[in-house]
Amino acid sequence: MLNLKRNLERIDGRGYRAYQEIKGRYEFEGSTLFIDYVQGDPFAPPSRIRVRIPQEITGFPREFYEKRICNIALCDFLTRRFEDNIKRFVKGNRGTGNSGRVTIDYPGQEILPRSSMVVTREYVEARFSMGLPARGRRVLAQAAEAMFFEELPKLVSYSLILRNLDKDQLIAHLYSCEDQEALRGELPEKKLVAFIANGSILPRASGVDDRPLKSGSVIPFKSPIELEVSLPAPNSGRICGMGIPEGVTLIVGGGYHGKTTLLRAIERGIYNHIPGDGREKVVSIPDTVKIRAEDGRSVKRVDISAFINNLPLQKDTSDFSTENASGSTSQAANIIESLEMGAKLLLIDEDTSATNFMIRDKRMQELVAKDKEPITPFVDKVGLLYKDYGVSTIIVIGGSGDYFDVSNLVIAMDDYLPKEVTLRAKEVASLYPTHRRREGGEVFGVIKGRVPLAEGFDPSRGKRGVKISVKDRSTILYGRHAIDLWAVEQLVDPSQTRFIASAIHYLTRHMDEKKSLREIITHFMEKIEEKSLDLLFVHGDYALARRHELAAAINRLRTLKIK
Ligand code: ADP
Ligand code: MG
Repeated sequence: MLNLKRNLERIDGRGYRAYQEIKGRYEFEGSTLFIDYVQGDPFAPPSRIRVRIPQEITGFPREFYEKRICNIALCDFLTRRFEDNIKRFVKGNRGTGNSGRVTIDYPGQEILPRSSMVVTREYVEARFSMGLPARGRRVLAQAAEAMFFEELPKLVSYSLILRNLDKDQLIAHLYSCEDQEALRGELPEKKLVAFIANGSILPRASGVDDRPLKSGSVIPFKSPIELEVSLPAPNSGRICGMGIPEGVTLIVGGGYHGKTTLLRAIERGIYNHIPGDGREKVVSIPDTVKIRAEDGRSVKRVDISAFINNLPLQKDTSDFSTENASGSTSQAANIIESLEMGAKLLLIDEDTSATNFMIRDKRMQELVAKDKEPITPFVDKVGLLYKDYGVSTIIVIGGSGDYFDVSNLVIAMDDYLPKEVTLRAKEVASLYPTHRRREGGEVFGVIKGRVPLAEGFDPSRGKRGVKISVKDRSTILYGRHAIDLWAVEQLVDPSQTRFIASAIHYLTRHMDEKKSLREIITHFMEKIEEKSLDLLFVHGDYALARRHELAAAINRLRTLKIK
């Protein structure tokens, strides 16, 4: 205890560099403090701190953290309380730059495995940042002492010790998470790809605010009777809602009737949500991948011949590369790359698709001969994708009825409520045949693995051998190149992007010119599962992303080289 105090007194008034001397581990009664990294100056990213409390003191019973899913939920809950208590107990500004500031990596609506909190049988550990206080560039030891010895004990005690927490709220958090996991686990056996519980609130507060829409006019979700299923959940009993079966499903309906909102909820159904989010009983299978057009992206040696053939200048589409994909070729590459990583459900919205990738009607077939049109539209492949590979698709399409012929289920959104209209759609299809010719043959086509080469990854910039940073959710600066992830829509948290950036660097050491991208990533994800996010770096700012998003980032690296 005296140790840190003495250290601080010794450096009072000295240049900011003197703070380096307080780095290290300190034992207090009932807690351990780690000062892992000390910032170089008051404006630099704040110093990284950990506080560890033994379980005998926290008082959490084992069933709160032994199961993986409960552990994730508990860590999430404690991180949120820690953030609340920062607002309560931390004074904030105590001098120049970031002086006095305390921050923890704060979660959004999703409950993700993250490294901001670690719970083991032995201890609970919070990881956060502190701006060590200075006036100008001089150490303010008294202010630092107040942070470490007055603020921190309160912060820790009110955030990490069970008797100071709202136990009912905590249990509700754990139960909800367990139920979500269980619901998702029920899907394969029931041959469902997604489930939306009755009463769910799907619309969001705004395009930039992921919290639920709170206006008085929200229509809660209600399944049409034909699609209603009830799934067992360990803590809530049976839950009724709409089950979307495997196969090809269309979501149709007039503009502004809630189609995209429904699809977006399914897209996020790969994640667990906090109680009160409105989507905490909306789940989809783990290998659900949102697909969209993404013109301008780079593509490296992807076989897109299932969709695209006979490009001008005889560009080979079974080994296709470009620095600047078009809407349709980018959408084709996005699909093939997702299949390569094992996607089992594709989600496609007309709002974000290339029209010529989605449809090619009779009139256009007549005007532009097949040998002048490189694209086989998705409508001719979506059924084969399910037949040949068991990959389901949910498509939002209000603008074309050509898909009626190839769908297994048609759901119409009407004033934000779903109706089952498959029979009616099939009737319409036989009354008004499209007369279009099927294109693209009788099989979907091959999906090949690709072997990435380590030489394609160069993280150096200027004099720095490794310079990798994350600007925001959608931008990784990797060496001299930016990886642009704006179109990877299921990446929801900048901490996931940080995880991906570190993971890419880690993975380059495992590229041996033999293992495919899928093998490398699958093996890595298993290791992370076994060893936690600390495998990369002991750091409080990571959140787990799936292999699909990790692969998506690698596929968008413009210097990527494939054997
Ligand atoms: P579409 O894709 O059919 O054109 P959207 O899903 O984009 O429609 O929804 C249009 C608007 O309606 C959005 O502003 C959305 O937030 C809102 N909305 C969607 N579902 C509901 C609902 N259940 N209750 C109230 N408003 C909703
Ligand atoms: Mg829409």
